[in-house]
Amino acid sequence: MVDLKSMTQEEMTSFFKELGQPGFRAKQVFQWLHRGAQSFSEMSNLPKALQQQLAQMCRLTVPEVVRRQESALDGTIKYLWRLWDGNCIESVLMRYHHGNTLCVSCQAGCNMGCVFCASTLGGKVRNLEPSEILDQVIFAQKDSGAHISNIVMMGIGEPLDNFENVLRFLELVNHPDGLNIGMRHISLSTCGLINKIDKLADLELQLTLSVSLHAPDDETRSRLMPVNRAVGVDRLMRSCRRYFERTGRRISYEYAMIDGVNDSDRQADLLADLLNGQSAHVNLIPLNDVEESPLKPSRRVRQFQQRLEGHGVTATVRRKLGSDIDASCGQLRRKQMKEGMLCPGKDTTP
Ligand code: SAH
Repeated sequence: MVDLKSMTQEEMTSFFKELGQPGFRAKQVFQWLHRGAQSFSEMSNLPKALQQQLAQMCRLTVPEVVRRQESALDGTIKYLWRLWDGNCIESVLMRYHHGNTLCVSCQAGCNMGCVFCASTLGGKVRNLEPSEILDQVIFAQKDSGAHISNIVMMGIGEPLDNFENVLRFLELVNHPDGLNIGMRHISLSTCGLINKIDKLADLELQLTLSVSLHAPDDETRSRLMPVNRAVGVDRLMRSCRRYFERTGRRISYEYAMIDGVNDSDRQADLLADLLNGQSAHVNLIPLNDVEESPLKPSRRVRQFQQRLEGHGVTATVRRKLGSDIDASCGQLRRKQMKEGMLCPGKDTTP
């Protein structure tokens, strides 16, 4: 079955030409799909016969809302979606003063194995198609009625481990005939796959790269993040500096504060040394408790921040949104997987 929603408009143009249709069909269908059409019969400016032909040839699935939790505290909405093959993924809609931001997932599960993260506990089941990443934005916007102006790729999965589909998603969501969300309004977060960071740098996109650092020293980082065992912090920093040189975009470093693990003054000093001379921003994240993990949130977040600032490093503490609704990534999917069979694990083949 053809996945039209993952196609660029140019690809759609060739597709319609092959069907003997005029080129302008591509723009029409592109617009319908990106506005959240749920069937071809809705596409009222297409001839009936074409609607029927497309319905037979193409897969037009839409994610189903399995759970929707809205925070009474700050209006954050967390969606648990079920995809056409039964896999579940999450998105979180956050309301910031600079606009509504959607945190999207790019894989069902994750293979990176970070010890503090709920998303990786069952491993990676599969990559999401570009259309499945896009659908989260389209349907969260439709469901909530909130105009989404910003996207963060910080949901379930490692974006650079699904590189081609993520790039295609960026191209689609950026398109003027679609949601038209500017690259500068998009952040992509990675645990640090250096070859892919280098590849991304060469594309010179204007998105914000967030690097999940979480420790300045190899010993701690390798303990927390298996990805560090093959490629240490120094090599990662080389790719980060190169990224900045190529794109001119300041990198944002994520640092989840964990009690007694990465929150000492010494580590703040090491972190400042590491970022010395880089145009960088550190985002300190109060650790979200994951039931299965013995790690606890740090009690030294402010001290750590002040210590960094004393060294001239810009550091902010991430505001916690939706803490009453399990709003951090992977937690809801995890809960659902433990409770029932709605979100199957590894045995699901797409
Ligand atoms: N795979 C990507 C994006 C997904 S995670 C990455 O690693 O960056 C988005 C961010 O949330 C990452 O910085 C991740 O390390 C962080 N994170 C995961 N679990 C967390 C937890 N329990 N508490 C705080 N931050 C967490």
